[in-house]
Amino acid sequence: MESLSSIRNRQKQQVKNNGEIPQYYVEGHHEAIIDADTFERVQREMEKRKGMDKKYGGVNPFSAKIKCGDCGGWYGSKVWHSNSKYRKVIFQCNHKFKNDCKCSTPHLTEEEIKQIFLKALQVAIVEKEELIENIKLMKEMVCEISEYKEEEKLLIEELNIIEEEIEKIIAENSRVALDQTMYQQKYDELEENYERVRVEYVKVTEKIRMAKKQEEQFKSFIEILEKADDTITEFDEEMWLGLVDFVTIKNKEDILVSLKGGMQIAV
Ligand SMILES: [Zn+2]
Repeated sequence: MESLSSIRNRQKQQVKNNGEIPQYYVEGHHEAIIDADTFERVQREMEKRKGMDKKYGGVNPFSAKIKCGDCGGWYGSKVWHSNSKYRKVIFQCNHKFKNDCKCSTPHLTEEEIKQIFLKALQVAIVEKEELIENIKLMKEMVCEISEYKEEEKLLIEELNIIEEEIEKIIAENSRVALDQTMYQQKYDELEENYERVRVEYVKVTEKIRMAKKQEEQFKSFIEILEKADDTITEFDEEMWLGLVDFVTIKNKEDILVSLKGGMQIAV
């Protein structure tokens, strides 16, 4: 049975990681396809988006998808001329008129966003094979959970052992007259250990959960892209949500579409 301290040492040897996915890049491995920059960028974005799904999910397919090239904030929707027949919904940087920061990035209509997506989709279809290869590789790197599963198993074993020890000294204390100071000290120690291992366990299960979620996203990306061909001329929400991570707007001539899995397409 591996001791607590040796488990902890092993964890320290791994690259520091407080996030949900392994933060490593296999150098020299497939580097022609995914470079370290792309990989790191994707990791950063995933980190940033952690916990955002609930907040924005299901509201509007364009919410938290358009990023201001000036301040890095998200575009939000705004209704113009709400009481007239000229009513229209536009998207603009949420920080635009806040504080002193007046971003110079333009507003966009829903139709413009759809056109941006369709243009990017055309490029993605041409690069389809390579994109799918990239995503498969990314999936392999990010969603590999066997190590986490092993860790999880060890931690559960460890928790069971500590629990047994706690029960044992409690039982012993009720049977024999133990030195109560020493008993309390031993008890506190065990409880502290238990809590420490439990925290590790929660972290590992969270990593497993995130990796599985990520895997689903990558799978759906591949499925959608495999179906896509150049006959698509109309905006499709499922494609938009499944393929696009976000779009960065600098100005109307400088637009970058970031796909899930890291590829960027200038539109
Ligand atoms: Zn802005």
